[in-house]
Amino acid sequence: MSENIPIQEIDPYILRAQEAFLGFKKLNIKERAAFMHAVADEIEALGTELIAAAQSETSLPEARLVGEKARTVNQWRAYADALVNSNVLPVQIDTAIPDRTPPKPDIRKTYTGLGVVVVFGASNFPFAFSTAGGDTASAIAAGCSVIFKSHSGHPTTSAIMAGAIERAVEKAGMPRGLFVAIATDGATGGQYLVKHPLVKAVGFTGSLYGGRTLFDLASQRPEPIPVFAEMGSVNPVFLLPGRLAAAAEEVATQYAGSLTLGVGQFCTNPGILVAPKNAELPRFLNTLKTQIGQVAPAQMLHQGIAASYHKNKADLLGQAGVDVLVAVDEDNPETHGNATVATVSAQAFLANPKLGDEVFGPFGLVVTYENQAEAVAIANQLEGQLTATVLGDPAELDQHTALIEALTEKCGRLLLNGFPTGVEVCGAMQHGGPYPASTDSRFTSVGPDAIKRFARPISYQNWPDGTLPDELKNGNPLGIWRTVNGELTRGSKDGRMEGEVG
Ligand code: NAP
Repeated sequence: MSENIPIQEIDPYILRAQEAFLGFKKLNIKERAAFMHAVADEIEALGTELIAAAQSETSLPEARLVGEKARTVNQWRAYADALVNSNVLPVQIDTAIPDRTPPKPDIRKTYTGLGVVVVFGASNFPFAFSTAGGDTASAIAAGCSVIFKSHSGHPTTSAIMAGAIERAVEKAGMPRGLFVAIATDGATGGQYLVKHPLVKAVGFTGSLYGGRTLFDLASQRPEPIPVFAEMGSVNPVFLLPGRLAAAAEEVATQYAGSLTLGVGQFCTNPGILVAPKNAELPRFLNTLKTQIGQVAPAQMLHQGIAASYHKNKADLLGQAGVDVLVAVDEDNPETHGNATVATVSAQAFLANPKLGDEVFGPFGLVVTYENQAEAVAIANQLEGQLTATVLGDPAELDQHTALIEALTEKCGRLLLNGFPTGVEVCGAMQHGGPYPASTDSRFTSVGPDAIKRFARPISYQNWPDGTLPDELKNGNPLGIWRTVNGELTRGSKDGRMEGEVG
């Protein structure tokens, strides 16, 4: 870990990362996976020093950080295992048919890392979406080297995490430079990294402004490169009349909990709730008011986040038709966030797209609709989202197919009768959605599929067996799943397992 590196001193790190990439790409996926488990071991072995540093730099509670550390370790292990055991980077072999007219060549497709990847992490997940977070783990799994731009909000935490990865690199005899964390200012050193010709991809988690700036920079390079940016979201929740009638108080209590969890500092925070304006609504609003009123203001990640929260909230509360339902008293706005919920009619919401903007923190906007058509119009007006949620009784879902259809156009994850905070790390997870939730909705940043972002396909045509990468060899020496002549098999090219006599 280097301290506050000026731009003119960044190049040697990039050159080393490029050299490391060229060495690392020679390893087969089993060797890569073994290294990833070694990184997981090193992170797991980090003691109280890590948690204490993160607590003091982010104000996040100890229990949350302990859980996030375990999740981070699991991500390295899960991505390593997926690399070997599943078809995350699918291998396809189509063998030659020499006597066909014209003759069919032997073609075999595998994946190779993109090269040096620059990763920017977010302040609200100092482990799981930062130095050793999902972007770093998936880029390494894809066979890339990584330069991490340390987050200014948690530099010591970043240095401790970087130390763990660097120890794993050294112990495993991996090329020096495979991973480095650089402390540099985003607007100067961070942008320099993105523009450097040896950098081939960017992983970003953070604000819409930061992600979009880096995306534009990367697109304007002589050689444009992909920026996989996961950004803000308001994660709309649509409450249907049947569910409101059946469980107004229960739903309000759950919504208050999800909205204020972690001082609202989650990318999956449900910032907008869309509810029917009917005789049952006051029950919901009264309980919501009571529940939110009991949430004490709490310290936010850093003063910049607190300042943005209060400013963005004030902007939104100043818009036409927006009324405060409940705002907890606030004595320390420089550092703390106070839970606040406002209401607005569907008509006012539809007339003002600004009301759909993210206010990062414990702020919720309840939008009330008079009829189904208004609910659908709200869904259609929303920008792309990480998640959308329907709270409805099973019997009423059939009457709301237009709304559900509209929501599938807007989000990466569609929930029923739950709340979006909490992102399971698993193969079926989609964490990413249409812009501006992310810059490329075809990919996820959570779950083993995240690896796909940093690898590119390469086909080998007519190469002798001994010269092919291990995963493409006839005998399937890695014992992995492959599609051979259209059939998924773990056997050799002839369908036999390695060592089996035909
Ligand atoms: P941020 O302010 O955008 O910072 C993220 C990183 O990007 C930092 O390292 C920062 O550098 C750098 N950066 C920001 N703007 C830049 C620019 N114009 N040029 C170059 N580098 C730039 O985000 P944050 O405040 O840490 O995180 C909160 C936001 O992240 C919220 O909006 C939240 O919804 C979102 N988030 C999204 C996800 C997701 O998965 N979609 C997950 C977590 C959080 P410096 O440190 O030098 O400023």
